[in-house]
Amino acid sequence: MSANELETLPISRAEFQRQDIFRNVAFESLAGYLLGCKTIFPEPGTLLIDPEKPRRRLLVLLDGLLEVHVESQGGMYIDHIHPGHCAGEMSIFDNIKPSAKVFAKENCKILIIDGDTALAMLNASHDLCLNFLQLLSRRLRNNNKVVCEEEYHIRCIEENAKVDSLTGLHNRRWLEEMYTRELNRSNAGNLHLSAFMLDIDHFKNVNDTYGHLVGDQVLIAVAKAILQCLRPTDMPVRYGGEEFTIFLPGTNIENAKIVGERLRASVESMKIPLLDKKDFISVTISVGFTERKDGDSVETIIKRADDALYHAKESGRNRVCLNLGEGSMFLF
Ligand code: GH3
Ligand code: MG
Ligand code: MG
Repeated sequence: MSANELETLPISRAEFQRQDIFRNVAFESLAGYLLGCKTIFPEPGTLLIDPEKPRRRLLVLLDGLLEVHVESQGGMYIDHIHPGHCAGEMSIFDNIKPSAKVFAKENCKILIIDGDTALAMLNASHDLCLNFLQLLSRRLRNNNKVVCEEEYHIRCIEENAKVDSLTGLHNRRWLEEMYTRELNRSNAGNLHLSAFMLDIDHFKNVNDTYGHLVGDQVLIAVAKAILQCLRPTDMPVRYGGEEFTIFLPGTNIENAKIVGERLRASVESMKIPLLDKKDFISVTISVGFTERKDGDSVETIIKRADDALYHAKESGRNRVCLNLGEGSMFLF
């Protein structure tokens, strides 16, 4: 290439050698291809790559900053491209429209290489291929990281949706999934499983007398007391309002009765500080429980525990009641 022709190139030798994407690439080996290329100088905000208007061309950022907007499930992910790097390369290889929008973030200087010329350049220079592979590997790793973080974020949101924010216990949504799974397991293996339904006695009075905030503190304290009476494999749930359910896998009636009495006594003995911390209140719970029978569904076993709870309430509250089914209630 003549000296005159070299001067008409859109990029000087010095500028070419500064670009990461052209690292170790001989300027002369690509000069012929660069003849047909051009540089542009977009202002901040200029949309350079648009999935709606795909153009098969490579953008090498010589100066300035590019911003990449990727739409994803978790919202918009934003990345940046710095001088020496490029954009638009994937569409050159796979001919598929771009998956992100690319904007000029600052005043930029960009070398535009059309798709076929870019492929011809890659054919002409192994070093350019290596640089591209490195760039793509970096982007792939980065994307994997973003996907993992997003999945983790989605999992956290899903988990939070199954937790009651006041007490930290699981909620009904969790119950539906996990109780069904546990009941199926117990039914299949003919294993013991006890189910509890608990309700705070005269809780409306607590709210009416001390206010809703104290009511909330009572709910938190009762949830804590419940947890302290259980094993890690037990499954307490805030069923709603001031009602709690518990599944106790592998627990027969005799042991369930001990747990029920422990729950009742533990709540009864609690002194819950009022907001001014100068005074305390106490509450009681009524407890109904039952054991799994063949053919039980989550609804039927909880209904039996709930009937026992009703019976405990009817019998004066602060009581534990066992329902063996068909009207066999035993008060403790
Ligand atoms: P019983 O002994 O028959 O169970 O009487 P109770 O007063 O406990 O039952 P009732 O169903 O009449 O009242 C339950 C109260 O629980 C009414 C409702 O406002 C209150 N409640 C439900 N959820 C919450 C909550 O998250 N925070 C507070 N502070 N109160 C709640
Ligand atoms: Mg109540
Ligand atoms: Mg209730």
